[in-house]
Amino acid sequence: MNSTHSRSSDWIKRSLASVWHPCTQMQHHETRPLVALKSGKGVWLYDQDGNRYFDAISSWWTNLFGHSNPFINQALKKQLDTLEHAMLAGCTHEPVIELSEKLSALTSHTLGHCFYGSDGASAVEIALKMSFHYWKNAGKPQKQEFVCLENSYHGETIGALSVTDVTLFRDAYAPLIRNAHIIASPDNRKAATGQTAEDVAIAAAARLEMLLQQNADRIAAVIVEPLIQCAAGFVMYSPEYMRRVRALCNRYHVHLIADEIAVGFGRTGSFFACEQAGIWPDMLCLSKGITGGYLPLSLVMTTDTVFRAFYDSDITRGFLHSHSYTGNPLACRAALAVLELFRHNDVINHNRIIAGKLDQALTPLKSHPAIRHFRHLGMIWAFDVTMTPEEQTTFAGRFFETALKHELLIRPIGNTVYLMPPYIIGDSDIELLAAGVTAVLKEVIPS
Ligand SMILES: *Cc1c(COP(=O)(O)O)cnc(C)c1O
Repeated sequence: MNSTHSRSSDWIKRSLASVWHPCTQMQHHETRPLVALKSGKGVWLYDQDGNRYFDAISSWWTNLFGHSNPFINQALKKQLDTLEHAMLAGCTHEPVIELSEKLSALTSHTLGHCFYGSDGASAVEIALKMSFHYWKNAGKPQKQEFVCLENSYHGETIGALSVTDVTLFRDAYAPLIRNAHIIASPDNRKAATGQTAEDVAIAAAARLEMLLQQNADRIAAVIVEPLIQCAAGFVMYSPEYMRRVRALCNRYHVHLIADEIAVGFGRTGSFFACEQAGIWPDMLCLSKGITGGYLPLSLVMTTDTVFRAFYDSDITRGFLHSHSYTGNPLACRAALAVLELFRHNDVINHNRIIAGKLDQALTPLKSHPAIRHFRHLGMIWAFDVTMTPEEQTTFAGRFFETALKHELLIRPIGNTVYLMPPYIIGDSDIELLAAGVTAVLKEVIPS
């Protein structure tokens, strides 16, 4: 792949001249590789020169059933010849109806109303606007503030950044952003000796209660990433926190927005992460895995209570939000195919078995001298690598490059390495992945 006369090199040159890549300091590509992808099949991505890469992070957490999945492909081809797109204001169609009904049923119809967007950040914006507007319609227009967790990530549009506590993404645009209340994360790595993850959750919830006691009359909603704060470096926490936040939101009349954009669709071992806490939020945001990594689609699911507060003859009491591609039939069809695969293949139970195997294969890493906080939930694994602050500035890049040489696509966040493979990994993939990660670590952290 480093051959200067490769077919990839032409694409790389043209891409760097014309495509502004996301989450990238473009100058870094003067020395860092850009992978020129030609095709994908199953867990593998292939570049122009025929090299292959194991998509161990499911292409930014979107891919669930592999690249070019025959079942999803078939469903999309059929939809393509039926209806590719139509506006959703004043019109409706089968895929959007079926998808809304099926997702609603998965919440036992607690969240029976689906509002569609095209990406995760938009779903977050929709939820924030919906909460604010609900309170306004309910005669409490002073409830305009939001609460988010320390290190939270809810997307990078200006509204979503207002509830995102990631310095790198936020600071550059700070003058444009409204401030939210940022409260302690229930990060279970904070547990002191003798403390459990549940103790940390209880203490963090107590901090939220203090805030709500003082400010609930001005607060519209609390937004959280249930069980795992992914972009923060895979911060995991006890479901007890979600139970307590739900109870506090009820007591202080504040909405709970669950951002399951990353953790929904089986990632944490249950279909929705909230199920593990036995609670439902007032608004649930979904995206990423929803179309199996095929097409951009997001939605916010909400309750009858919220829906009814907007139901009126007055247009300004209605929810004022729209996107051109709202409820796109192709994207909805891909999502329906994903739900079919879940049902047909008993994916939640099947994942328990493969997760057990991959966890077993990764066991040697748990006692690696440079690894701390090896953690695992559902189909997500993460660990922190100990290093000096100087080493940390280059670690993620070095790991990424070395992983490519070992046929792995892995992008650490700071010093946190994580694996989030598609749900179709077989026994040989599991061995390959575990051996590959071990080999990369050996090269990147000389002991
Ligand atoms: C990725 C992500 C988002 C933003 O989704 P985009 O589609 O990238 O805008 C929001 N919240 C969480 C928890 C995410 O992981």
